[in-house]
Amino acid sequence: MKSEDATVLVLNSGSSSIKFKIFHGRDVFLAGRIEGIGTSPRMVAKAGSGNGEVERKLADDADHGAALEAAFTFLFAQFPNMRVDGVGHRVVHGGTAYAEPVLIDDGVLGDLERLCPLAPLHQPHNLAGIRAVRQTFPKVAQVACFDTAFHRKHPWVNDTFALPRSFFEEGVRRYGFHGLSYEFIVGKLAEIAPDIPDKRVIVAHLGNGASLCAIKERRSVGSTMGFSALDGLPMGTRCGQLDPGVVLYLMQARKMTAEEISDLLYQQSGLKGLSGISSDMRELEASSDPRAREAIDYFVFRIRREIGAMAAVLGGIDGLVFTGGIGENSAHIRALVCRDMDWLGIGMDDAANDENRMRISREGSAVKVLAVPTDEERMIARHTMKLLGLAGCE
Ligand code: AMP
Repeated sequence: MKSEDATVLVLNSGSSSIKFKIFHGRDVFLAGRIEGIGTSPRMVAKAGSGNGEVERKLADDADHGAALEAAFTFLFAQFPNMRVDGVGHRVVHGGTAYAEPVLIDDGVLGDLERLCPLAPLHQPHNLAGIRAVRQTFPKVAQVACFDTAFHRKHPWVNDTFALPRSFFEEGVRRYGFHGLSYEFIVGKLAEIAPDIPDKRVIVAHLGNGASLCAIKERRSVGSTMGFSALDGLPMGTRCGQLDPGVVLYLMQARKMTAEEISDLLYQQSGLKGLSGISSDMRELEASSDPRAREAIDYFVFRIRREIGAMAAVLGGIDGLVFTGGIGENSAHIRALVCRDMDWLGIGMDDAANDENRMRISREGSAVKVLAVPTDEERMIARHTMKLLGLAGCE
């Protein structure tokens, strides 16, 4: 390790897992995950150099804090020259107040706690990660980086629902998510396609979660995700846009409880629900079952529809960027999305697309089409180093 560069731990804490990456300056020193919290926790970590993988079973009764403490006690013994100068967290919701990453103190933690009802499936686990770090590294400064922050400067029309005003005031708004991914992509575009980030760009983050973002002059002006991470495009297991009348029907006619509806919309819908086979795009692409084809057709149809809507919001587009597991890797989905889009100025170079090149539009296409890997953890590491005044961030 070069001593002048800082070392930052990035955490993405979920209900039963904690994903972590340790950045030393620009380099990934270690990446891993603790999984099975609540049942049978274990930790797997890989050195960024590719040399060495370590695995450790943790105590069955370990909660987030105990699991993190045990995992890092073990890792410090394995990598004696490792240190942690700061910790950055992915936090799904920053509400209306947090439009930038923030140093975490008791006041901030209290504010983030109050946002749990807005993201009940993610926020409590993100905060459990913050508390776990307090227990394990009590002296180390922690930074919260929000998935909503990049969208906070949305125009009002994209922020509101047509409900009585008081709901907007209490926080029932279209927040938008995947912001750390979009922010990373905007930064990357400045390096690899400097003519477009200051113009009009649509970024399609297509992974297990999926959304589109309309970006003008490097700022988000529209997103398909709204109040929750359910809205917009269909996803691996989430439904995407849904008539609210369906929810009323489920409650009134089917007598379903809030928990049952939540499970249906978050866990049983999307590609999984439509295909009845899998939430995983690779499995659907490999399947000959017509339901797999139909699930892909619906996914593509909704992306194309929303690209049209975003183009209207932007008044035309100069760039279309695919990212996320599907966007980065599936030439098939990218080709289906861009088919017959000449009317919008999109001309695909089929060979470049098949070869997974970064630029996949034809020479002369009015819209530059790109496939760019995203890196939310790196974005968090950069924010953390910058906010804490640590050396090593780009
Ligand atoms: P993410 O949530 O960004 O990790 O993306 C996960 C999704 O990407 C899953 O649906 C995967 O099946 C999909 N994916 C990853 N690699 C490929 C690939 N080579 N072709 C198609 N889909 C892929």
